[in-house]
Amino acid sequence: MNRHCKCDKPYSPVEDRQRFCSGCKAWFDESCMQRVGVPKLLKGTPAARLNSIPIMRGWGGTQEPKAWMTAGTGRLVDVIREAEVKEGNIAEQWEGWGELLTPEFVQFVKTTKFVQFLCPGCQQHI
Ligand SMILES: [Zn+2]
Ligand SMILES: [Zn+2]
Repeated sequence: MNRHCKCDKPYSPVEDRQRFCSGCKAWFDESCMQRVGVPKLLKGTPAARLNSIPIMRGWGGTQEPKAWMTAGTGRLVDVIREAEVKEGNIAEQWEGWGELLTPEFVQFVKTTKFVQFLCPGCQQHI
């Protein structure tokens, strides 16, 4: 069982968005953490970008939740780490990842500017 955020509020998948800290093995509300830097697109090859997505869950109040928001990105991160690196040019690599992870998720990773947070437990950027 994962420990929960310092605030001890019950997690609401509809209202909240949480990040998982692999160091603390705990989920924290984005709203309870300090942001680090400005939101940025992930950098590098498709594989490198997919490998650096945060482990997060929850709709965060959005009106148009994506499929991954309910289950969280953790399972997708496991799939990405165990997958073979896709071959071909950048567009073909994205397409290969899209077949594995769904085009919707790949599009989300390509176009989202992710923000990092300071883990309140271990001060790692998550
Ligand atoms: Zn909290
Ligand atoms: Zn931590």
